Amino acid sequence: SIPLGYFGGIGAASRNGILFKGSNFIDIISNVTTVVMDKTGTLTKGVFKVQDIVPENISKEDFLSILSSVESHSTHPIAKAISQFHPASKIPDSVEEISGKGIKALVDDKNVLAGNTSLLQSFGIPYPKELDKIVETTVVLAIDNEYKGYITISDEVKDDAELAINNLHKAGVKTMMLSGDKDSLTQSIARKLGIDSAFGGLLPEGKVEKLEALKKNPKEVVAFVGDGINDAPVLALSDVGMAMGGLGSDAAIETADVVIQTDQPSRISTAINIGKATKKVVY
Ligand code: ADP
Ligand code: MG
Repeated sequence: SIPLGYFGGIGAASRNGILFKGSNFIDIISNVTTVVMDKTGTLTKGVFKVQDIVPENISKEDFLSILSSVESHSTHPIAKAISQFHPASKIPDSVEEISGKGIKALVDDKNVLAGNTSLLQSFGIPYPKELDKIVETTVVLAIDNEYKGYITISDEVKDDAELAINNLHKAGVKTMMLSGDKDSLTQSIARKLGIDSAFGGLLPEGKVEKLEALKKNPKEVVAFVGDGINDAPVLALSDVGMAMGGLGSDAAIETADVVIQTDQPSRISTAINIGKATKKVVY
């Protein structure tokens, strides 16, 4: 293998678009046993496109314009896709982001909810049970406590996502995927990519709990890779926190110990392998 000291290791990493925020992380990363990854923006492109539009007891035009008016106040990648798809026509009041679920707002004095089905559940609003089985990201709309339909939006798996998982397994590292997106979709992507275990429908605290459970085993050295604002707590909790720089939020990049400056998840195993090669030389 390549003869690398710590400086050499940091240099080799930087030539591969990988930034180590300290030589201690080269040590830690060389011992990683499990890599835990976020789905959206890490293994998928995080660029959503509106697909099916299924309004219920409301015109398609009203459905889209109310949905877009509310979503235009959110910076979530899902919200961006919706507000680019259809123009917002109304100015909502008291807009509130409900972390991991969606948005609540007042539009023309009506209570509007836009988000996933657990948002509706938390307000006790009934919806067709089939929605949870659709293997696509879905956004539901409710007005004054009444279900008004849904849209599906699609994202694509990154070109090198499967390679990224294969390389980690070749390096003897276990893989886990966590997502706030629906579980049916999360499991389907995990199966396609060959990821060892996956959990969907998680709130930010749920991701923290999964990581804590893993870390209860003292033999586990855990890396977390994410790109979002919601990922800061898990990035901080992991033994080595990695941010994907391409789309990554500033909060994620700041909290991370290692920054992958490209959009490529295959660089995760590159970072681990550089760590291993570096340690061979130092010891
Ligand atoms: P993740 O990045 O793992 O998908 P998030 O916490 O960002 O987790 O989002 C979790 C889920 O919450 C999304 O998949 C979506 O269903 C819902 N959600 C969050 N924000 C919005 C929004 N502005 N509009 C619609 N749905 C949203
Ligand atoms: Mg996110």
